[in-house]
Amino acid sequence: MPFPGERIYWHDHSVQPPAPGTPDLPDRVDVAVVGGGFTGLSVALHLARGGRKVALFEAASLGYGASSRNGGMIGPGLHKLGITGLRKAYGEDRAKDILREGLHALDHLEDFVTSEQIDCDLHLTGRFRGARTPAQYEASAHECDWLSKNINLPCHVVPAADQHTEIGSDFYCGGNVYHRDGGVHPRKLVAGLTRRALDAGVTIFAPCAVTGINREATGLSLRTDLGTLTAREIVLATNGYSDGRTRALSRRIVPIETGASAIGPLSPGLMAELSPKLRMHGETGRVFMWYRPTPDGRSFIFGGRFGAGGMPLEARQKAFRHAITRVFPQLHGSPFSHVWSGQIAYTKDHSPHLGHHDGVWMAGGYCGSGVTRSLYFGTKLARRMLGEAQAGTAFDDLPFSPVPFRPLAPMGADMLARWYQMQDARDLKARDLNRDTVS
Ligand SMILES: Cc1cc2nc3c(=O)[nH]c(=O)nc-3n(C[C@H](O)[C@H](O)[C@H](O)COP(=O)(O)OP(=O)(O)OC[C@H]3O[C@@H](n4cnc5c(N)ncnc54)[C@H](O)[C@@H]3O)c2cc1C
Repeated sequence: MPFPGERIYWHDHSVQPPAPGTPDLPDRVDVAVVGGGFTGLSVALHLARGGRKVALFEAASLGYGASSRNGGMIGPGLHKLGITGLRKAYGEDRAKDILREGLHALDHLEDFVTSEQIDCDLHLTGRFRGARTPAQYEASAHECDWLSKNINLPCHVVPAADQHTEIGSDFYCGGNVYHRDGGVHPRKLVAGLTRRALDAGVTIFAPCAVTGINREATGLSLRTDLGTLTAREIVLATNGYSDGRTRALSRRIVPIETGASAIGPLSPGLMAELSPKLRMHGETGRVFMWYRPTPDGRSFIFGGRFGAGGMPLEARQKAFRHAITRVFPQLHGSPFSHVWSGQIAYTKDHSPHLGHHDGVWMAGGYCGSGVTRSLYFGTKLARRMLGEAQAGTAFDDLPFSPVPFRPLAPMGADMLARWYQMQDARDLKARDLNRDTVS
């Protein structure tokens, strides 16, 4: 939920998504889509182009959720389980299929943005992922080699001695460059998708929350802030903002608050020092920071699980400052221009999902990597609903089971994150002790 004093960088650096107007609520539609982020807009657009009468409901404003709050970092997304975890969970062939699906999703995003002429600052600049410890460097070099050989992912290893070609920092012990990664301006992407959805004939209601869903003989009945309507089918696209109103999805995900901040504008000289190739950035570790130059190359955006729900602005800034300055001491005195937060959706098996459960369609659970996936899943889900070819994905028949003890799960996730942070701190301490001994 937004916190007092929150300001979102993307909102101050783009036009608003087009206003949907104030249409009358129809009695009946073919499909009602709940949620006006990337997933909802994408599925609605493709269903409308496939000839369906579609109404989309967004409780706040279009892109209000994570879709206008994220880092805009795109890429194949790999998988939260990592290569070893994936192979263990699904076997060698399925693991490769799942990883390749990430590349298909990225191809889809590129094709979509290009063919629809959506101006959203898409640049595949690559991503440098720094290794915090020598052991993590070895592991990520091995991963890079495996990905290049097995799924043709362009990736190269950067030893510590060369890392200043990628980043103006001595914090890391080398890292990898993933060449298929890059960035977009997420709010511009929301605006472009909204325009295309309206042009395709989607009727958009925003703000208008869906407050209840019931199955009746004539179809699914939706209660909304504007009244009741019947839909033959429903798509839940509420991801980390799911709650009791969209229970079928809410019971399958754990909503987690995560934050972002922006520092800048910085001088061109400092920007070139911090990120000589203006790539996206990430790091190894259990609780990690991601960061990127803004599309205009003048500021930096940093993000990660810094600051807990309900934390005041000053405390959030302090948590961010600590994480940022250990990588970039150069930014010690630079003020934050923006600090904000948003909700992501985690799943029990660390995997995103799409499909039909409890009588409704849904896509989500992107585990924090949803920009590329949500557009792809939205399109794939629409194709499946339309009975079209090329609707399948490697994620299709993964069981999407409810999270046990769901009401307690966010608290459990929070405790786990704290435990991981302690382990990360222990690893860094051991590394620094070792560095001191060697030097
Ligand atoms: C701080 C942050 C940084 C991130 N960075 C990245 C990144 O760099 N790269 C990446 O790949 N992913 C990133 N993500 C994740 C990514 O943004 C999400 O996975 C993606 O935007 C999900 O899109 P969505 O449309 O499924 O959900 P959302 O964009 O969250 O949209 C859900 C919408 O549903 C609406 N809603 C909820 N309930 C109702 C209801 N009852 N009726 C009507 N509407 C309702 C909400 O208001 C909300 O607008 C980040 C997320 C956050 C929060």
